[in-house]
Amino acid sequence: MASSSSRLKDTIFSTQIVDCHTHIIPWNDLPQPVTGYTLFNRSGCLRGIWAIAGALSRQEFRQFKQFPDWPSLSAALEQVKAVAYYRILLSGLKSLYMLDFEELDEISLEALGKKMADAYKSPHWYSTVLKEKAGFDITCQDSRGEFDRSLFTPVTRMDGYALFGKRGWGDAIIAKHGGDRTSSLEGLVGCLGQDFHEALKDGAAAVKSNLCWGRTLSFDLVGTAAAADALAVCNSDENDEKSAKVLGDYMMNEIAKLCAAHDIPLQIHTGPAGGTDHMVEFGNPLNLNPLILRNPETKFILFHAGGPFVRESAALATQFPNVFLDLCGVLGRDSLRRILDDWLEFVPHTKIMWGTDVNMVEEAYAISRSFREVLFELLEARVKSGYISYSVAEDVAKAILAGNAKRVLRLES
Ligand SMILES: [Zn+2]
Repeated sequence: MASSSSRLKDTIFSTQIVDCHTHIIPWNDLPQPVTGYTLFNRSGCLRGIWAIAGALSRQEFRQFKQFPDWPSLSAALEQVKAVAYYRILLSGLKSLYMLDFEELDEISLEALGKKMADAYKSPHWYSTVLKEKAGFDITCQDSRGEFDRSLFTPVTRMDGYALFGKRGWGDAIIAKHGGDRTSSLEGLVGCLGQDFHEALKDGAAAVKSNLCWGRTLSFDLVGTAAAADALAVCNSDENDEKSAKVLGDYMMNEIAKLCAAHDIPLQIHTGPAGGTDHMVEFGNPLNLNPLILRNPETKFILFHAGGPFVRESAALATQFPNVFLDLCGVLGRDSLRRILDDWLEFVPHTKIMWGTDVNMVEEAYAISRSFREVLFELLEARVKSGYISYSVAEDVAKAILAGNAKRVLRLES
């Protein structure tokens, strides 16, 4: 028994992972020296928790206010010290930088800063952390910007088209393609197709959508004439919410069709948006039901386990063969374990993926280490209860850590 258990642990800790979703800040974009302050200030996960804890006001959150010294940072850390994400991060930092402290204080932060500043002098530090220490095979970066393509696989966004009728959202598209083309529906759809092909040529592995940050995930069936009328209204009145939604519904359907035609999955942010001022209900994955039903050939990947709508996202994954689940951004330990434990009972394990959703490589390391532990604990418990054998547990682990993502996103090592 013990040897099978340690073999399972070995498998889980040695499998090369696919991280389906992240936002790592390019090494070049971090001002040297990189220290502990850089890490904590640049962590979107921590900043989000600080915003909801009140350690950053709405204004400070939007303006990226930095904590410049220990008194200000420690006051902010005080509010998040029991949150799972902070515990996971601390544990990862101690392991990665071989530091020994119980809780972070001014002295340990300085020691961390020295080690980080040294490590970051090397342009290979990202490769060392992601490839060697965290054991990542492929990292899908939610961007097509300037970054090391030997470490990161790009993912593209087309949300500008689905939000085209909303003030400001179409600006980049109009600037690129010209107002003449984007003023007619046919022209706008043509621009979308062109951008889509450019993204594919650039190696994009998926289309990521963040639409529920600005609108509901409910997309009605809209005919061409109604969409053209809505575009005309939006062109003359940027504040017409109703027409913006009609146009957005139509364009999202076009995006889903393009994804199917090119066999590229549509990764959809579900659950609450980041920040402090959004409608949680917008991100309820059940809103996607009609869009999924209309696009049976499109692979929909529901991100963040659906947020509070865990069961709802699982309900879609058990209803539709073209719906998959991604645990990216679920930054807990026991809560994550409960979600996965629950899903494994009725969602085929071949439909579940994982990702980090972080900004710094230290965070990616910490999250992946914690996820491997959680996965081992729950699968070992399932084996010990007689529910599955060790060999099935190993297959499930390998599929969730890498195999499913490689198959669904058509990724190669
Ligand atoms: Zn994200």
